[in-house]
Amino acid sequence: MEIRELKTIKIKISKSLQTKIRKGHPWVHFYQVKNISVKGRPGDYGVVYDPDNQFLALGLYDPLSDIRLRILQTGEPAELDAEFFRARLNQAAAIRRSLESQGTTGYRIVNGENDRLPGLTLDRYQNVGVLKLYTQAWFPHLDKIVPWIERDLKLTPCVLLLSRHVERTLLKNAPYQNQTVLQGPELDGPVGFLENGLRFEADVLQGQKTGFFLDQRENRQRVRELAAGKSVLNAFSYTGGFTIGAFAGGARSVLEIDSNGWALKAARENLKLNFPERLTEGNGFEQIQGDAFKALAQLEQEKTFFDIVILDPPAFAKNKKHIQNSLMAYTRLARAGAKRTRDGGILFAASCSAPVKANDFFRAVHLGITSAGKTYEVMERTGHALDHPVAFPEGAYLKGIFCKINGPG
Ligand code: SAH
Repeated sequence: MEIRELKTIKIKISKSLQTKIRKGHPWVHFYQVKNISVKGRPGDYGVVYDPDNQFLALGLYDPLSDIRLRILQTGEPAELDAEFFRARLNQAAAIRRSLESQGTTGYRIVNGENDRLPGLTLDRYQNVGVLKLYTQAWFPHLDKIVPWIERDLKLTPCVLLLSRHVERTLLKNAPYQNQTVLQGPELDGPVGFLENGLRFEADVLQGQKTGFFLDQRENRQRVRELAAGKSVLNAFSYTGGFTIGAFAGGARSVLEIDSNGWALKAARENLKLNFPERLTEGNGFEQIQGDAFKALAQLEQEKTFFDIVILDPPAFAKNKKHIQNSLMAYTRLARAGAKRTRDGGILFAASCSAPVKANDFFRAVHLGITSAGKTYEVMERTGHALDHPVAFPEGAYLKGIFCKINGPG
């Protein structure tokens, strides 16, 4: 691996951003850097001083990212050595420890900015670590982190994943590639783990995110608690997390819809691990491969209703430009879902679009349900689980709502 001297760059920013950073905001965007002549390489140190020339913040610089500086330390200067990162890693791990006693061995150990390791997530699947980077600034610092993942957290192997942006902008001679095994043996297939005592497999290399939507664990548990004797529609089912939860809670039947055949196959494998008898035809489990909007329209023609309808689509809005269109799509989806919900049944709708604010999403769902000619009562609004803490407003992306639906059906 390339060894190079890291530079320390002084970065000038406005007073108002200084105040924000003092309160915990973790980013300096490119357009907020006042000294335009700043030159550095990914992973150089960036330091911000206050108007009295006192230390304000220290972070990692990345000229390839719109977020030019990701803050690691404020208030007191610190040496970003192995012990510094070890402490951060162990603090994050300690917050999650209670999950183990709940029969959960697949969870997020580091949630980036929200665990004061910006641009880096670490997920655990049983004994396997999956480190995902959203900036190349981490490359020159990884050797101060990776050893602790094995020694302190007991995870081995540890696989590196790169965000799409990092992959696209990867420099020639980059020391790491997507799917590099950082320590331990190569992975030879999906990794088994437990979620609330239920068995799953995650394909860390082929799957979406790091292989599983760990962030929906609590909502799956709620569905489990509500599912006894119920018929369930699981739209955007991916590898069947909500399905297994529903069957574990005694659901009578589950219909999955997903456009991805690979995900549907993985969902059948997960079902086999827990309730293999359900795979026999006529035992309450079915799948539709295709577009969920079209499948919902087809179910409407067939006048099929469900006791519980789950709508957990991919992010409809990736950035601010998409917010309006995404809200319309959330409304259309909630409308179609509410129409398929039996009188007195439950609709669960979720959004993982970071730019969409919770209240706007809930309003979109409201419009969808009411435009379907139904009334509803909010049972619960849900957000982030313990292993996905939120430390600043932009860190909150997940919102969910459970509604009891009333009206003909
Ligand atoms: N609920 C899942 C996660 C859903 S991720 C869980 O708990 O694990 C979103 C899923 O939507 C992905 O599996 C993706 O393949 C699927 N998808 C994306 N667009 C779709 C569409 N138009 N119709 C149906 N499925 C779609």
